[in-house]
Amino acid sequence: MIGKELLEFIERENKRLNEHFHKDDSKKEVALLRLAKLTEEVGEVSDELLKSFYYARKHKLEKGNNLDIEIADVIIVTLLLAKNMNVDIDKALREKIKNIEAREY
Ligand SMILES: [Mg+2]
Repeated sequence: MIGKELLEFIERENKRLNEHFHKDDSKKEVALLRLAKLTEEVGEVSDELLKSFYYARKHKLEKGNNLDIEIADVIIVTLLLAKNMNVDIDKALREKIKNIEAREY
């Protein structure tokens, strides 16, 4: 479901982050730090959405729009959190998609 290239990047980045930031951290601490990071990244998506609809001050609008990059950050940090928690994200996505497709609207 998720591309090999992305999963290999997550593997490398997880290792790099663990070596740089989490040498003495427990699994619980890493999970909570990644959740905090995810919250930060979701906030950045909000910021970009507000800018998309010109609902921001001029100096923010002048910085241009990075909605695509911020959405990518959310996906990457989510995958890093899943990796830390040993979530089989491929399997979870397949199950979730099946459930969503069975919904009636
Ligand atoms: Mg970001």
